[in-house]
Amino acid sequence: MLKKILIANRGEIAVRIVRACAEMGIRSAAVYTEPDRFSLHVKRADEAYNVGSDPLEGYLNPRKLVALAVETGCDALHPGYGFLSENAELADICAQRGIVFIGPSAEVIRRMGDKTEARKAMIAANVPVTPGTEDNLADEDEAATVAAEVGYPVMLKATSGGGGRGIRRCDDEADLRRQFSRVVSEASKAFGRADVFLEKCIVNPRHIEAQILADSQGNVIHLFERDCSIQRRNQKLIEIAPSPQLTPEQRDYIGELSVRAAEAVGYENAGTVEFLLADNQIYFMEMNTRVQVEHTITEQITGVDIVREQIRIAAGLPLGYRQEDISYRGYALQFRVNAEDPKNDFLPSFGKISRYYAPGGPGVRTDTAIYTGYNIPPYFDSMCLKLIVWGLTWEETLNRGARALNDMRVQGVRTTASYYQQILKHPDFRAGHFDTSFVEQHPELTQYSDKSRPEEVALAVAAAIAAHAGL
Ligand code: ADP
Ligand code: ADP
Ligand code: MG
Repeated sequence: MLKKILIANRGEIAVRIVRACAEMGIRSAAVYTEPDRFSLHVKRADEAYNVGSDPLEGYLNPRKLVALAVETGCDALHPGYGFLSENAELADICAQRGIVFIGPSAEVIRRMGDKTEARKAMIAANVPVTPGTEDNLADEDEAATVAAEVGYPVMLKATSGGGGRGIRRCDDEADLRRQFSRVVSEASKAFGRADVFLEKCIVNPRHIEAQILADSQGNVIHLFERDCSIQRRNQKLIEIAPSPQLTPEQRDYIGELSVRAAEAVGYENAGTVEFLLADNQIYFMEMNTRVQVEHTITEQITGVDIVREQIRIAAGLPLGYRQEDISYRGYALQFRVNAEDPKNDFLPSFGKISRYYAPGGPGVRTDTAIYTGYNIPPYFDSMCLKLIVWGLTWEETLNRGARALNDMRVQGVRTTASYYQQILKHPDFRAGHFDTSFVEQHPELTQYSDKSRPEEVALAVAAAIAAHAGL
């Protein structure tokens, strides 16, 4: 078994990995940049190393991170999600320096990180993909020609995109020509590659993704699916497992497809196959070659510790489960509590957490790196907490979610928690009828009253006093 793991990440996912290490008797080594000196992952890990004063550079330098792993006697590196988690060079450097990379091979990361290559691999494996271009688009004119064949609306997408960025819907040719250069420049800026391709826009689909686990002996299993249709600007807000809107046949089919997809590319470790579902048609969208933000809800319904399995697989052990050992029970919901103001177009709201009170009780889990007194730095993602609830039935899970959100107190910054309360009350959500357009179609849900939240009242009073005093 591995003895010491360098965690090349920060925040809640770094804390999550520390927890898995602790339960497995493995030492954990955290890294942090200057603004993260007081981050919880630094406090929780067995060791912590400063990787520089720049907020981001230290988390994004594969060579330095692997050198640190070697110097500090680590035998493996866990990349978490975001940052370098889908960076093939990191996996390559790990291999060169004798550090076990906790994830698939560099070759698989490279292939799946390139959305057009991934689509080709899936077509070859007989996995249905959205109609679209085989290769990257040469220019705007080619885009217009292909779009006319595929039919509007289309989606222009950055080939190496991620995190919901570098994606634009185009409704007609004029729109496409307007957006083309924007997506290209967004792609080069955010992902360092200008390549874009085009897909048919599936109108009002459900986002359904399957969790898979694959070991080095060639065993591949799935842990059922998650419904991530509640999104804003192509970014997930609330995730659900299993999907309340699938028939048992659809569920089996998606599980089967995702195993086939993983087998086709020689996948190893944990991964996610993302699909769009519309009118009983399922289309492969992309594969994420890392642990997913929402792996938690799959853990809650199946009882499988996904991060532990990632570490066991990387250590060369066979999967601890066969497909027939995996079952699920009840429902789980995850709320991505972001430090953002839903009433102000989800403007980020960084600053000091003056008080944090974690919700508890049956079926409640929080994965977070915040604590009372913690100052959320402005350099990173605005997600500050994941609240996960589990219940035996859909209704019980909805009610438990509402109860837990109400129990929780995050004061000092604005968060999306109250907004999620509104979503939980909506009859369509409660009935399990929603697609990726839900958030956009219900702007009224951001117009809730603050009166029930004492911390909102306190913030308003403080602001009024400050304004009066001319501060
Ligand atoms: P998940 O697919 O696990 O739900 P997200 O798509 O929300 O995850 O991405 C998780 C984190 O990783 C976010 O902070 C997101 O901004 C970041 N991220 C994902 N893919 C990329 C990428 N290709 N480049 C940069 N950041 C990314
Ligand atoms: P990322 O790598 O940023 O996660 P994805 O390809 O997974 O990008 O797409 C993110 C989201 O964008 C999807 O969950 C979906 O809501 C929307 N989307 C992407 N492609 C399409 C499409 N062809 N038709 C409709 N919606 C799409
Ligand atoms: Mg995606």
